[in-house]
Amino acid sequence: MTPPVAAQPRRIGVFGGAFDPPHRGHYALAATAIDQLQLDVLHIIPTGHAWHKSRALSDASHRLAMARLAFADLPRVLVDGRELVRPGPTYTVDTLQHLRQEYPGAQLYLLIGEDQARALPSWSRWEQVPALAIICVAVRADSTGAKGQFDALKAQVPSLTLLNMPPVAISATDIRHRAAMGQSIDPLVFETIARYIDQHHLYRPT
Ligand code: ATP
Repeated sequence: MTPPVAAQPRRIGVFGGAFDPPHRGHYALAATAIDQLQLDVLHIIPTGHAWHKSRALSDASHRLAMARLAFADLPRVLVDGRELVRPGPTYTVDTLQHLRQEYPGAQLYLLIGEDQARALPSWSRWEQVPALAIICVAVRADSTGAKGQFDALKAQVPSLTLLNMPPVAISATDIRHRAAMGQSIDPLVFETIARYIDQHHLYRPT
């Protein structure tokens, strides 16, 4: 159950992703951000057609349902399907602009993992993003020591902030791979997600 959102939310988190499937790394990032950034509300936004992912994503209805299950017990979370109904490619900058209009005067915080931070300069109209939101980055366990790259980005985006959380060595790619091989995914996702994947035969070879 999602608790009520503050009457006039001032600190708005935005966490987009394929969530194919949502896993404990996503949950850790969201929980850390709510706590450290003192968010009034966190929009979890499954991406529509993610222009930067080469593979076809699972059906939007499955990813939305799994996101609702995965983040169900986190306070102040709103699982937000807006990008799933937008036709064509979806760009973060457009979503941030819409949220700015919905929450006039509020501060937006865009939550991303380290891989996406490195990819930031390839995002559509990425230069507009720092004016719309403070970008908050979670280090990933498979970090290849790209500190230099991060520092270079920080020089371009001084407001870039690191979330203080231990790296979580989980990726959706690994989970899909394990599920396809019939291996257990239990430690990587919550039980509700493992059950959903099983019941809907997701990630199985066709
Ligand atoms: P895939 O392996 O399919 O690329 P993923 O595990 O990276 O998927 P996404 O849904 O693409 O998951 O990620 C959504 C956001 O969450 C991205 O900003 C990504 O960097 C971040 N993220 C995903 N997993 C982690 C993790 N273990 N630690 C920190 N951030 C993560």
